[in-house]
Parts: sequence; C-alpha cells; structure tokens
Amino acid sequence: MRPLNFDNRFVRELPGDPITDNYTRQVSGCLWSAVQPTPVKHPQLLAYSHEVADMLGLSAQDMQTPDWIQVLGGNGEITGMRTYATRYGGHQFGHWAGQLGDGRAIYLGELLHAGKRFELQLKGAGETPYSRSADGRAVLRSSLREFLCSEAMHYLGVPTTRALSLVTTGDGVIRDMFYDGNRQIEPGAIVCRVAPSFTRFGHFEILASRGELDLLKQFIAFTIDRDYGEWLAETGLALDPRNLQAEQVEAWFEEICSRTAAMIAHWMRVGFVHGVMNTDNMSILGLTIDYGPYGWVDNFDAGWTPNTTDAQGRRYCYGRQPEIARWNLERLAEALATILPDSQGLAQGLSAFDRVYMRELTGSLTRKFGLDTWQDADGELINRIFELMTRAEVDMTLFFTLLAQVEITHPQLQTLQAAFYTEQGYQQYGADCQAWLQDYAQRVQSSQRGSAQRLQQMAAANPLYVLRNYMAQEAIDLATTGDNSRLLTLLQLLRNPYIEQSGMEQFANKRPDWARQKAGCSMLSCSS
Ligand code: AMP
Ligand code: MG
Ligand code: MG
Repeated sequence: MRPLNFDNRFVRELPGDPITDNYTRQVSGCLWSAVQPTPVKHPQLLAYSHEVADMLGLSAQDMQTPDWIQVLGGNGEITGMRTYATRYGGHQFGHWAGQLGDGRAIYLGELLHAGKRFELQLKGAGETPYSRSADGRAVLRSSLREFLCSEAMHYLGVPTTRALSLVTTGDGVIRDMFYDGNRQIEPGAIVCRVAPSFTRFGHFEILASRGELDLLKQFIAFTIDRDYGEWLAETGLALDPRNLQAEQVEAWFEEICSRTAAMIAHWMRVGFVHGVMNTDNMSILGLTIDYGPYGWVDNFDAGWTPNTTDAQGRRYCYGRQPEIARWNLERLAEALATILPDSQGLAQGLSAFDRVYMRELTGSLTRKFGLDTWQDADGELINRIFELMTRAEVDMTLFFTLLAQVEITHPQLQTLQAAFYTEQGYQQYGADCQAWLQDYAQRVQSSQRGSAQRLQQMAAANPLYVLRNYMAQEAIDLATTGDNSRLLTLLQLLRNPYIEQSGMEQFANKRPDWARQKAGCSMLSCSS
C-alpha cells in the first residue's frame, strides 16, 4: 500500500498511558493507551463507501489492495499509522458509570487529505485496556447496521460519523442472543469508521470526575484548537491554551449545544431513534455516533424505542430524544464547571440548546408539512395528526410521502390510506383524520406559496427511503451466507433517499407484516 499522509496530533500532543501491556484496568492521568489490534483469521472486504474513500484520497484500486484490506481487518500496518484506544467515561441510563473508554474501537491515527483531518477507527478490532469484561469484537449483524446506517444518515443530511469499509474477519464471535438467551457463534466483522473527531462528552467527564483538572484544561484547549478551528476563526476569540479564558470555554460550550440541538432536530425529522443516548455516545462535534440498537420509526409513536435494554423505562424513546440530549449537555456543563466554578455562561449554552432546537424543529415541521411560515396555531394542528397517527398506527415516512400527493382543493383521506398499518385503524380513525385533512388543506390554502414550490420543499424534507430495520435484517441474512448483493443495493439506494428510484418501490413501502413480530427483527439490544 502506498504511503498515506498521517499526522497524529492526539497521541503527539496529549499524554498517553505509561503502561503499554494490554490488560483491562483503570487508567489515569492520560487520554489514550497504545494498543495493537488483535489479528483476525481472514479479512475480506464486504463493502466500502466510494465517497468516504474519495474523501480520504483512496482510489478504488487502493481499496482492493490486499495489504490495505489486511489493515482494515486489523492485521496490517502502514507507514505513519499509530494505533491506540482512548479513555473516557460516561453517564449510562441516567447514572455515572465511571471509566468506559474504547473497549473495541482502535484508532489508526489521523489522516490528512485535501486540507481536512480525519480520525480512522477500527470497531471490533480486539481487546483494549477499556474492554472491561467484553471481548473487543463486533459481529457482522451490528457492523453491517453501523456501516449502512451511518452512510444513510449522511445522505439524509444528518450530521454523522462516516464508514469507510465493512470487513468480515473469518473468525466466529460468541454472543448471547437477547431474544431467547441462547448462545450463538456469529461471524465477526470490523467497520472502519471515519470522522474529524470521535471525541465524546465522556472524555471530558472522566477527567472532571477524577479531578484531573490540568489535563481537562489541556484537552479542552486541544479540542477547540484541533476540532473547532473554523469556528474559532469565525468567533475571533484568541485561544491561549495555557491560559484558557472562561468566556472562550462558555462560547465553545454554547456552540456544542447548538450543534447538538440541530442534530436532534434532524433525528426527529427523519424518524431516527438512536437507542443508547448515554453521554459516552454523544459527540463533541454534534455528530450522530455509535450506531447500536438504533431504529427508525415505522408506525408513528413518540414512546417507541428499538432498544430492548431500555424497553421498560423508555428513557431513550423517539419523543424523549431532545430532553435527553439536553440532560446530557447538562452533564457536560457540570464537567466543564469544575474548571469554571463561577460560570454563569454555561447556563446560556443550555438556553441556546432550547432556542436552536425549537427553531430547527419548527423549521423542519414547516417544510415537512409544506407550510409557508411557522404560525402559533400550527403546533396544535400538527400535534393533532401525530396523536391520530399514533392511535391509528400510521407509518411516519409513508405518511409524508403521501401527504404531498393530497389534492389540496379536494382532500381525500384515501390518498393516505396506504400509510395505515391496519384496516381497523383506518376505519376507526378515518373520520377524525378526514376532518384533520380538511383543516390542513385550509391552512395550506391560506398561504401564498405556489404548489410547485411547496412540493419541492416537502420532497427535500421528507425522505422516500429510510433504513427500516427489516431492510437491514434482510441484508444481514444474505451477507451471512456470503452474499453482499442486498447490502450493495441498499447502499446505492440510500445514497439518494429523497429521489424516487425505479425498481425500488418495495423499499418505499411501510414495514411488511412479517417483520413486525419476528424475533431479532424489530427489537435490538446494546453492544453486539
Ligand atoms: P455502547 O453501549 O456500545 O456505547 O458501549 C459502552 C461501552 O462498552 C464502551 O466503553 C464500549 O467500548 C464498551 N463495549 C461495548 N461492546 C464491547 C465489546 N464487545 N468489547 C469490549 N468493549 C465493548
Ligand atoms: Mg458507545
Ligand atoms: Mg456501541
């Protein structure tokens, strides 16, 4: 493999773990531990993202190079690469969980290309000092889901980490199946994920909780300098890493709050449910990170969560995502407050979250429903249909696709019928839905906007294709037999989620009946 342009600032500028043996332990006084990926039997490239390869300056030929595939499977090394796992903590399901860290993700370093910096990580590359009692591995099922979904989210316009490659390892990985408790050997796999930074709220929290405040200051300065360079230039705030000013940290926190708010508004727009919004899974850049038991809303339901671990509490259900994101930002604010004891400014950041979230949410609802501008009464109108959709079991994605087809001068509920999951729901709530449609049509007619412009706006906010759980599952079932054709079809389809593609009608439909109850298809757990 030809040399790539690595520039590993994280390990060069931040203190590392003095212990270099790879065993599970509590780590202190540093941000990273040097660790080698554990070799696998037979890495094979199942799929890769052309655009991510491009973004990194890797050609199609590079991606097929056997040496490079060995690297992507954790078996090889190339010049300039540095492998390490980072130390972070986090609040999990509402409670401080202490040290977590990269238990199975191993960095390959920071790659520079076309003036941009990218961290590369192999997820599932083996044990690290942060693996606790787990095996450091990932199975094909969860890896394929992360690979496909992070790319799909990018094309939906949602800020996210990216995925370069999906490699099967040739090794088996043992997992307890969450739906029947049986042990199974599953095929192992490794995703190479890519982002400007994988830093999480939890990186700051662990330093604050251990009282490592000099290191916390150093890491804040590093993050602002490396990951917020453009923002820093825009604000004109001069940064002296040895002498951080409260107002800089506060302004930076406000920016994190704004980005997080914008990300969550996008999740709500497309019907994405992350499933494990712990503070260790919150990106400092406001990117969607750590695709585990995520899911997509089929029948609209604010209380729905795809995560079986969370099925009782529903802490991380669709409708609570904004509230939880804010809660997580409050935990980050507490960590930052350890070095800014008298700060009033951190509270301003949290207000910015509320403000930006409301602005982005109302903006996206305005576009989704094809309204001209947001008016006070619109909230009530929209809540009314969301409630009806919940009770009548109406598919979220298909509803908006069909709503654009309603004849505004003569609205007929029949136009929306295909979005109803049951005939009974359609009958029982039909009159209420028709009445709503009438009011909605009136609201649309009251606006001055031309219909072409309205439809264009709706089409840009409402995806035709999202990665429904059963779609990923079908791709997994095939990939398990060595057939990557469905995976590649979906990768291609989801690159253009807003544009109708011929021969792909089945993927614009609502979830098929068989997928509703099937074990392992509609519910998922953490950490597979
Ligand atoms: P998650 O719930 O996926 O965000 O993971 C929480 C923590 O568990 C992180 O520190 C992960 O690195 C760690 N973890 C999850 N799965 C594994 C695994 N199979 N092996 C080692 N560590 C893991
Ligand atoms: Mg995680
Ligand atoms: Mg995870």
